[in-house]
Amino acid sequence: MKDTYWHKGMRQQLVNELRNKGIKAENVLQAMNALPRHFFLEKAFEEKAYEDNAFPIGNEQTISQPYTVAFQTELLEVKSEDKILEIGTGSGYQAAILALLGAKVYTIERQELLYQRARKLLKTLGIHQVKCFFSDGNNGLPNYAPFDKIIVTAGSQEIPTQLIEQLRIGGIMVVPVGHKTQQMHRIEKLSETEFTSNVYGTFRFVPFVEGVRRFNQK
Ligand code: SAH
Repeated sequence: MKDTYWHKGMRQQLVNELRNKGIKAENVLQAMNALPRHFFLEKAFEEKAYEDNAFPIGNEQTISQPYTVAFQTELLEVKSEDKILEIGTGSGYQAAILALLGAKVYTIERQELLYQRARKLLKTLGIHQVKCFFSDGNNGLPNYAPFDKIIVTAGSQEIPTQLIEQLRIGGIMVVPVGHKTQQMHRIEKLSETEFTSNVYGTFRFVPFVEGVRRFNQK
């Protein structure tokens, strides 16, 4: 895996594009400038890795568009040492961005193939602050709760209230909610029983589904 001047230049352009599209958090822009996105894509997409687009990563799933990653990460207000739960590891790119921001990341993937690949890649890249789990994200990770932040990177039909239980009071969850397209929700947990919810723009995610899918399973 090589990160050449060409890649670095393309990445700088992408970051400028994200800034022009309204991303303001400097720490997020810096992390996206530092992390080679082409490492997370199949070789065939290497030249397009710095376009602001989603790409297939296998098993009908996609790596999120850079703007979406930046938008969700900005809403999450990541602080160094935050303990963050991610639902939907996919390529591992979003988890790596959170790690670069200083967070301790727990990420869950329901597809064994993607889980294996992401875990291996993050290990190769020396990103040890990410722990990967193969399970159904609907259950969260009760043994590691509470989390300071939760980020869901698949489209949920409803606000996943069972995950709010695993958020500490004062914690933030960012989750796209909706059927065909999703509204980005930023949820803040006020007490054991109350939360506020603010809605941002419209996005399109692959669906947040139930159960796990093993290696050779259709
Ligand atoms: N964050 C990823 C984006 C992946 S797309 C990245 O940076 O590349 C969303 C991912 O959510 C898919 O890989 C999909 O398999 C996964 N997913 C969907 N439902 C899930 C569930 N219930 N539990 C865990 N992962 C789930």
